[in-house]
Amino acid sequence: MSRITHWIDGKPWGGVAERSGKVYDPATGTVAGQVDFATEAEVDEAVAAAAAAWRSWRNASLTTRANVLFAFRELLNQRKGELAAIVTAEHGKVLSDAAGEVQRALESVEYACGVPQLLKGDFSENASTRVDVYSIRQSLGVVGIISPFNFPAMVPLWFAPNAIACGNAVVLKPSEKDPSSAVFLAELWAEAGLPAGVFNVVHGDKVAVDRILDHPQVRAVSFVGSTPIARYVYGRGTGNGKRVQALGGAKNHMVVLPDADLELAADAAVSAGFGSAGERCMAISVVVAVDPTGDALVERVRSRIAGLRVGDGRRPQCEMGPLVTAAHRDRVVSYLDTGVAEGATLAVDGRGHPVDGEAGGFWLGPTLFDHVTPDMSVYTDEIFGPVLSVVRVPSYDAAIELCNANPYGNGTAIFTNDGGAARRFQNEIEVGMVGVNVPIPVPVSYYSFGGWKDSLFGDTHAYGPEGVHFFTRGKVVTSRWLDPSHGGINLGFPQNT
Ligand code: NAD
Repeated sequence: MSRITHWIDGKPWGGVAERSGKVYDPATGTVAGQVDFATEAEVDEAVAAAAAAWRSWRNASLTTRANVLFAFRELLNQRKGELAAIVTAEHGKVLSDAAGEVQRALESVEYACGVPQLLKGDFSENASTRVDVYSIRQSLGVVGIISPFNFPAMVPLWFAPNAIACGNAVVLKPSEKDPSSAVFLAELWAEAGLPAGVFNVVHGDKVAVDRILDHPQVRAVSFVGSTPIARYVYGRGTGNGKRVQALGGAKNHMVVLPDADLELAADAAVSAGFGSAGERCMAISVVVAVDPTGDALVERVRSRIAGLRVGDGRRPQCEMGPLVTAAHRDRVVSYLDTGVAEGATLAVDGRGHPVDGEAGGFWLGPTLFDHVTPDMSVYTDEIFGPVLSVVRVPSYDAAIELCNANPYGNGTAIFTNDGGAARRFQNEIEVGMVGVNVPIPVPVSYYSFGGWKDSLFGDTHAYGPEGVHFFTRGKVVTSRWLDPSHGGINLGFPQNT
């Protein structure tokens, strides 16, 4: 059983852990590792290393920073198979899905490689007579990243490349459920030539998170996780004067109009509902079937579910892996009985699905509820597992109303062949990321990722241009170089002449 420890000041932490937690292999249910949980003092050590490193990294030339990012990109590309294997071993998602996660992470790194272009400011010559005005964006200092279990490689790399490219130093607190990817990334950053202390990792739980949120030298926090914790992190972090972006949970609706291609829609619902066992913040968890599509759509989804291969993600033929922990699996399974008790129709019971894996794995097969109504907890709660609900509505307007009444607003999709209907949907829907015949509309790295309403606290989305904005602060310089016309006292407010 391996020990997973912090990475501070360019090397593995050498201390003795007072607290630790177990890391499981979800496909077998066995304990795969023991992860150190940071105390407040250990977080302080990481922040001190970051603060010291920032003093010189903030002035590293743009070329130096870009070179490190290019080197990191090359290493990550060369070793992406290893990272995907680590993700699968601790998270459980199938290897092809883990490879897709790493690929999206690579794209975030590639965006940050353009840092010389991204940090260009504005310049106005002769804003006033012989007065020039220019804007620059500077680093913040030490920034904290707190990430969830479901994308242990990609979510840290939504933030770290831009943060580092912009001249900040990072303290990452990954999920304690699958912590090894973060350490792998730290090793790659060091190999890429990033100076010691610019990227640090502390493992742990609430103790580490709270210390990051309270530490006076941490200037900003990027958080991704469930809505209750996102709300808490935002409140505590901003209460301490920090800049915070806190991305929360989701309940993503996919609207299917009667004119849609139902084969395409059924493929999309199954892919987006059960990929990564539904443990994606952009997973589709509600299919909104606009009358009269319900029966035909449910039948198509049901028949596709029957053919899904569930099992150990390391076995190449498997398409859906286990859930991340036994406790999470049990919580998800509890919704199956609750849904039935509340009056939903259990069209497919995932407990009966065949599994190609060890008996001790944290399994639940794909599950389909039909005739779900908005008052049921299977509809209101973020289940975060392979449970897809179908809500039938009488009209297009009712579908939009349902989506907009939901407190979450992360992703959504509409399936239709009517361009006018799709256009009205993208205009009226109160959701941050919208797909038109695309079920999981995760923006490419040169746009930014973020939901609305209870899916994001703060006003800045992740990565892309908004990420660069988040990790920098603006400064405007007004300068006048002396010439023979200078001089004279003027107590009035400066005016342009
Ligand atoms: P989580 O909220 O349980 O944990 C997220 C992070 O917060 C982890 O690092 C964890 O250690 C820490 N944490 C947990 N409890 C805490 C507490 N009481 N105080 C302080 N810190 C605490 O989330 P998770 O289960 O790891 O991830 C799944 C959730 O993340 C889902 O709700 C999913 O929708 C959401 N998510 C959202 C996005 C997005 O972009 N909006 C992306 C991925 C995941």
